[in-house]
Amino acid sequence: MSNLKKGPKIGVLALQGDFEEHIGAFRKLGLTAIEVRNPDYLDELDGLIIPGGESTTIARLVKIFNFEQKIKDNVKRGMALWGTCAGMILIANDLTDSYPTPLGLLDITVSRNWFGRQVDSFESDIVVKGLGNQEFRAVFIRAPIVKRVGQNVEILAKLEKNYPVAVKSQKILATAFHPELTDDLRLHKMFLNMSNKKHKASNDQKHRSN
Ligand code: GLN
Repeated sequence: MSNLKKGPKIGVLALQGDFEEHIGAFRKLGLTAIEVRNPDYLDELDGLIIPGGESTTIARLVKIFNFEQKIKDNVKRGMALWGTCAGMILIANDLTDSYPTPLGLLDITVSRNWFGRQVDSFESDIVVKGLGNQEFRAVFIRAPIVKRVGQNVEILAKLEKNYPVAVKSQKILATAFHPELTDDLRLHKMFLNMSNKKHKASNDQKHRSN
């Protein structure tokens, strides 16, 4: 599935949203990520990205095409997971909004469309933990924000009023912004490292204590 010898197998959920841009970012890193439209592909993956788009639409398609349980089972098995923007909304434990119903894979509470209509889209240079001192140009498009993080969730970057916009817990990463829309590939590289089989942390707490 991947052309990168011994590299992790990465898939991007290709039901709706900007999955092609993520595929393009990995191509620049020399890796062929696959567009995932069939839940059975998940069993083969070391890492899955749920891209930005419209979270209510993606949630509906996830249900219709029976992805829900397959994503949960594979995350338990140790597949890395990265949600960007709408993807972050989908993997959260809770939302302050009524829709959609998130998958509950990361102990955060998220608020959709936090920045309102006036600033639908904006860019900001932020420092992201783990990427060195050089700032990351973060592109926010009708972006959500993280209102609460659980005990085991590490905050990698914050923005306005100190709300987190990049968080990580074991092999699960979430960003409120769109790294796939810039030429900065550092977060995609970080995700490749997280997806690497040698990366110890499993997503399943039980496995960790075994
Ligand atoms: N506001 C969108 C939603 O709630 C997310 C926007 C995005 O992914 N760029 O689904």
